[in-house]
Amino acid sequence: MSARPSISNVRVDAWTVPTNEVEADGSFRWDSTTMVVVRAEAGGHCGLGYTYGHRAVVTVVRDTLAPLAEGRDPFDTRAMHRDAVIALRNAGYPGIGAMAVSAMDVAMWDLKAKLLDVSLPDLLSSTRRSLPVYGSGGFTSLDDDGLQSQLAHWVGQGIGQVKMKVGTDPGRDGERTRIAREAIGPGAVLMVDANGAYDRKQALALADEFADAAVGWYEEPVSSNDLEGLRLLRDRVPGGMEIAAGEYGWANHYFASMLEAGAVDVLQVDATRCGGYTGFLDAAALAHAHHIPLSAHCAPALHGPVAAAVPELRHLEYFHDHVRLEAMAFDGVAPLQDGALVPDRSRPGHGLVLREADMEEHRI
Ligand SMILES: [Mg+2]
Repeated sequence: MSARPSISNVRVDAWTVPTNEVEADGSFRWDSTTMVVVRAEAGGHCGLGYTYGHRAVVTVVRDTLAPLAEGRDPFDTRAMHRDAVIALRNAGYPGIGAMAVSAMDVAMWDLKAKLLDVSLPDLLSSTRRSLPVYGSGGFTSLDDDGLQSQLAHWVGQGIGQVKMKVGTDPGRDGERTRIAREAIGPGAVLMVDANGAYDRKQALALADEFADAAVGWYEEPVSSNDLEGLRLLRDRVPGGMEIAAGEYGWANHYFASMLEAGAVDVLQVDATRCGGYTGFLDAAALAHAHHIPLSAHCAPALHGPVAAAVPELRHLEYFHDHVRLEAMAFDGVAPLQDGALVPDRSRPGHGLVLREADMEEHRI
């Protein structure tokens, strides 16, 4: 029997890519996106994982996680995840530490799949071939024409659900949702995301306005730290409107608290933040135990293989900035088919190959 391979050459790179224009939501403005990619080798194969976060993620991977991974058995993904969280105990796991662990964990899963010569959907036990997505953007920095054309473009691609940002100018938010509805027609699901910009009473009052545009999804109407407020809104918003949150979940206890508080109709989970595919699957099990469906937050190319493994998956977020950046950074991004994402099962791992030369000008 040949010797088991061990992990070597863990490397981390980062690129900051300007957005097309300045973008804004209810609580933030940005003009660039930083992508941090971790690669690790074993047995002649290279696994790749990434996160969208601060460049400080690079330091955490390089100084703490790479030395921890090198020399280990690449099949021990769960042990590596556990030890990475422990290793960041004093540095601080949530936030930048969790993003570093997330990128590393996805690289480990990709590496394992490649060593086994199976696709990640196959390795993670896929429940479906085709994954519903929703178009996501609708920034508050867009003018009304820009908002309408972006949302209508997605609907024209066969995507039946679209999300816009609200919360920058609450006095105009009701009107903006009616303008959006006009662009997408009566059949598409209209979703709004306030990014925690409203207070409780304001959020409740605006829900009535959003109901006029038949909004079906109300994301972070108040801060996602206000579990009682989310629960209150969930009980009181007009019928059929769902409350969603969870994108800032770094670990299981966060999702457990949110679910136990009855705060959401749909739990959002982001594998680039919550500890990679390992953390994502843990969160999915928690949501399952609470009879709550799950929606994958952002990074659609990364989420495809693991979202396919979730029986109660609602959808994946087809986020404008990340769709653009993933197409720029990788070959092998699964294209949409009839408005749904179909993960590639023909190649080992997730199938993403870094286009390093094309990204060179953005390297940091
Ligand atoms: Mg959001």
